[in-house]
Amino acid sequence: MEVKLLTYTPEPDRVVATAARLCYAPQDAETVWAGFTREKQEEFLGRLSAYGHFSPYEHVSFTFAVAGVSRALSHQLVRHRIASYSQRSQRYINEVSFGVVLPPTVEADPAAREEFERVIAAIREGYQRLTALGVPKEDARYLLPNACQTQLIMTMNARSLLHFMALRCCRRAQWEIRELAWRVRAEALKVAPLLFREAGPPCLVRGECPEGTMSCGRPYTKAEVEASYGLA
Ligand SMILES: Cc1cc2nc3c(=O)[nH]c(=O)nc-3n(C[C@H](O)[C@H](O)[C@H](O)COP(=O)(O)OP(=O)(O)OC[C@H]3O[C@@H](n4cnc5c(N)ncnc54)[C@H](O)[C@@H]3O)c2cc1C
Repeated sequence: MEVKLLTYTPEPDRVVATAARLCYAPQDAETVWAGFTREKQEEFLGRLSAYGHFSPYEHVSFTFAVAGVSRALSHQLVRHRIASYSQRSQRYINEVSFGVVLPPTVEADPAAREEFERVIAAIREGYQRLTALGVPKEDARYLLPNACQTQLIMTMNARSLLHFMALRCCRRAQWEIRELAWRVRAEALKVAPLLFREAGPPCLVRGECPEGTMSCGRPYTKAEVEASYGLA
């Protein structure tokens, strides 16, 4: 899986702090912007987050290039509606040599892996035969599996990203989209450390799990996150 932050609103921490402060400031926006030192941003954004006032977070957006993920993942991803997506089309791209994402459970079991690879090879052959018969790519693709690799560009604002990370960094999310969410978090933290300092699953951020009886019972620890993702 590759996750790259392509571009983002410049100075995202400062934009959000300025937008929020403007609501209560007698000065104009430019004066508020100019007066926002890093220390003031940190203090102000901390309060904003504690109050749960997240609408100013909508002023900044982040665009990610995602590749080497499965169609199973992308189907889950696009359920997050407060976002924009552009995904490689199976109508226009010939998928005869499609790549696959191999689930770790399949990879770990030689017999399962053999069966998986046998079926994938059969699908490739079937796809090739259909297109050779003149079936358009948009119809031949009905043979393609959830494992089929895809690539996409995703843009989300910071509020939506926080929500996405809360849901998908959680251990209840499937392994593949969970890895994506942690990678997105790592990229976002590099450029907006104040906005995303409390990004992640509720067990890590708030120290409690809202999932009730569905809870995994294995809260993330900071040490684990640091070790696995190079993050505090
Ligand atoms: C662990 C896990 C398991 C899941 N299992 C399933 C499953 O089995 N089946 C399934 O179908 N989905 C499943 N989902 C997907 C889930 O139901 C959501 O579709 C997905 O997580 C997107 O969340 P969202 O709607 O909050 O996000 P977004 O679409 O980004 O919306 C963000 C927020 O905006 C508001 N909002 C957005 N649209 C509306 C609207 N139309 N009306 C009112 N408020 C709105 C809501 O407050 C929402 O939380 C699962 C998700 C997770 C994390």
